[in-house]
Amino acid sequence: MKYLLLLLLVVYVLWRWRAGQAARTAPPHQAQSVQPEPIAVVACAHCKVHIPLSHAVCVGAQYFCSAAHREAAGA
Ligand SMILES: [Zn+2]
Repeated sequence: MKYLLLLLLVVYVLWRWRAGQAARTAPPHQAQSVQPEPIAVVACAHCKVHIPLSHAVCVGAQYFCSAAHREAAGA
């Protein structure tokens, strides 16, 4: 019985030691988050609201937030 307890103790210690080794060798979590791509932003020539370039109404070198503001600006 004494040896059985000793064997269980040794198995437990080895199990804990191996778990600690695995935790140390595991790759760390990626601390850096994936940065989103920057979005080009332009200001509306009429109301100065900043909007993504992909949503802007472009007339020549001027950008507008909507067709209504493009018409209001006379472009
Ligand atoms: Zn506007």
